[in-house]
Amino acid sequence: MTDCIFCKIISGAIPSYKVYEDAYTYAFLDISQVAKGHTLVVPKKHSQDLLETEPAVLAQVITSVQKVAQMIDATLQPDGINIVQNNRAFADQSVFHLHFHIMPRYQDDIDGFGYKWQTHSDAFDADAMTALAEQIKNA
Ligand code: AMP
Ligand code: ZN
Repeated sequence: MTDCIFCKIISGAIPSYKVYEDAYTYAFLDISQVAKGHTLVVPKKHSQDLLETEPAVLAQVITSVQKVAQMIDATLQPDGINIVQNNRAFADQSVFHLHFHIMPRYQDDIDGFGYKWQTHSDAFDADAMTALAEQIKNA
C-alpha cells in the first residue's frame, strides 16, 4: 500500500530500528518507546487490522511476536511483557497496518504503560451472560 507508513518501513523507503525480519514479518522499535525495548511486529503483506487479516498471515505474525518477545526477554530481562494490538481508531489504532506491540514491563515503569479496566459485572446477570454468549456463538 503506497500510502502506508509501515509498508514504507518494510520496503526500506523510511528508516527503522529493525530487530527482526523473515520472509513474512518485520519487527522494529516503536519510535515512541513506552518502555525500553517497546517493539512492533508487522506482516509484510499489508492488511488493515487483525479482523481483516488472512489466518495464515496471522499465524506467521503471532509466531514472530513470540520469537521477538523471547529475544527481548533474553536480552533486556524485563519483569513482564504485555502484547497489545489495537483495531480501529476508536480502540486507539493510529497506523492502519496490522501490528502487535511488544511492551516489556519493568518494576519502575509504572508511569509508562497502563490500562484502566473498569469492570461492569453488576450489569450482566447469569441470564444476560447466557444470552450474550449465545448471540456471539451464533454469529
Ligand atoms: P497504534 O496506536 O496501535 O496504531 O500504534 C502505532 C504505533 O506506531 C505508535 O506507537 C507509534 O509510536 C508507532 N510509529 C508511528 N510511526 C513510526 C515510525 N516511523 N517508526 C516506528 N514507530 C512508529
Ligand atoms: Zn501497510
